[in-house]
Amino acid sequence: MRIAKINFKMNKINKRKRVYLDYGATTPIDSRVVASMLPYFDQDFGNPSSIHAYGQSAEGAVQNARDIICGGLNCQQEEVIFTSCGTESDNLALRGVALAERKRRNANHILISPTEHPAVQNTAKQLASIFGFEIEYLPIDEYGKVKLEKIRDLLRKETALISVIYANNEIGTINPIQDIGEICKELDIPFHTDAVQATTYLTLDVKDLNVDLLSLGAHKFYGPKGVGALYKRNNLQIVPIQTGGQHEFDLRAGTHNVPYIVGMGEAFKIAQIERLTRIAHIKPLRDFLINSILNSVPNSKLTGHPVDRMPNHASFVFENVDGNELLMLLDVEGYACSSGSACRSGDPKPSEILKSLSLDDNWALGSLRVTLGTATTRNQIEKFCETLPKILHRIRKNN
Ligand SMILES: *Cc1c(COP(=O)(O)O)cnc(C)c1O
Repeated sequence: MRIAKINFKMNKINKRKRVYLDYGATTPIDSRVVASMLPYFDQDFGNPSSIHAYGQSAEGAVQNARDIICGGLNCQQEEVIFTSCGTESDNLALRGVALAERKRRNANHILISPTEHPAVQNTAKQLASIFGFEIEYLPIDEYGKVKLEKIRDLLRKETALISVIYANNEIGTINPIQDIGEICKELDIPFHTDAVQATTYLTLDVKDLNVDLLSLGAHKFYGPKGVGALYKRNNLQIVPIQTGGQHEFDLRAGTHNVPYIVGMGEAFKIAQIERLTRIAHIKPLRDFLINSILNSVPNSKLTGHPVDRMPNHASFVFENVDGNELLMLLDVEGYACSSGSACRSGDPKPSEILKSLSLDDNWALGSLRVTLGTATTRNQIEKFCETLPKILHRIRKNN
């Protein structure tokens, strides 16, 4: 019965020709990635920690994935720790470094940007509420970009770490990671960046970026959900947050999720090879979308940086529009987008990030994020640009 019901739903979705414009939430797994994963479910199923041939083969597959990621990050094997997701990588970076630095040198101060993903934001909040750390927020400009010139003043001797998102998920803004890293390096403060959104489109050389820690999550770059990685510079101490066996250099216990790690490696390899091709495909479509919407919709604004933004990312606010209603009506027309606000229905509150940009509620509540990807076509975007203004005109209050 249950299976029949699911099939029925899938059929309905296929028939209605849906257009997926929410690649910032997740991406479909590349078919090449699926193919790379399959043997590791039932043929090469060994535990990488086992001594025998089954174990060795699985261990080889994990090391191969690690090599691919090391290549892209320009780091050593033992600097890549596989985790269960981007969220876990962020948790391990923040909690792991904060607790280690407190133990080592009594550091109790953490600096983060106000536009961090909840995985960083709420980990920092817990470090404050339960572990007694002091959290301070970096100033940002109107585009959500960290103000470089203020960082030096805020860093202290007792700063345990600083964390700044590489490319923002909600508003697409790219932060000056390399420059922030230079300051941190000079003052010897551990620096973490959440690169979960950035992986498909931005360079990830950790030496160039001057970072000590960098988080990845596979399902944002056409890999599987439920697997991620953390780059951690050698010689930087972290306390493991999941304890048990000696996996991942004693820093993340738990039997390796071999097929998912293999898939992550393959997706990462493809992302590196096809980065420029993907940008060349997506950026003109995104530019067309932004220009078209800003020109055809009165009282509309782009959120995030106009230039330093992810090439697949468009985000707007529309004055006097209910963002949830907008998303529902777009869905009825077949378009899957998202809003800045994490709320679903009832109790509408603007997102923390849009609030940090000092937008009034009557703007911030009408947010829309459109994120493009490999399957997006010019025709889809042109049709979308015809549909969206009509819906907005219909639902706008005080029209
Ligand atoms: C999606 C996302 C995460 C969380 O990654 P998961 O693998 O879904 O846990 C963290 N940070 C950013 C910027 C993200 O976009």
